[in-house]
Amino acid sequence: MVCAKPVYRAGKEGVTGGRPPWAARGARGEELVWEMQERIARFDTERFRTLGPGYLALSVAGEAGELANFMKKLWRKDPAIARPDGFAPVTQEDRAQIGDEIADIVMLCVVLANHLGIDVEVELARKLEVIDDRLQTGYFGAEGRT
Ligand SMILES: [Mg+2]
Repeated sequence: MVCAKPVYRAGKEGVTGGRPPWAARGARGEELVWEMQERIARFDTERFRTLGPGYLALSVAGEAGELANFMKKLWRKDPAIARPDGFAPVTQEDRAQIGDEIADIVMLCVVLANHLGIDVEVELARKLEVIDDRLQTGYFGAEGRT
């Protein structure tokens, strides 16, 4: 779904002003997805060179590859990484590296979404409903609980 009021338009026209009424701050005052999307748009406007959607998509894939490569190395050290209980052996240092790669991936995805006028928060909520519907109709992938 494309948001009615894009937070960013390609061509560095800048960020549209104001938080939409539905994007209320969290109960603890934390930054919500829309606010982070707007913040990344502002940073992108001020600091980044405009890249095309193809370049951005390849960059997302490249960063996902970096994450996968790091996880592969952890897997080599400890095959438990492949199992549902494999989170425990991941050290704090490894978690920091994983977090860094995740930030790269998410940021590039948000930049792509911003240029295309896609509201990430709306898309995340919609997708969770789609997955929930699938699970309720009996589709259970490896991640679904039966
Ligand atoms: Mg990276």
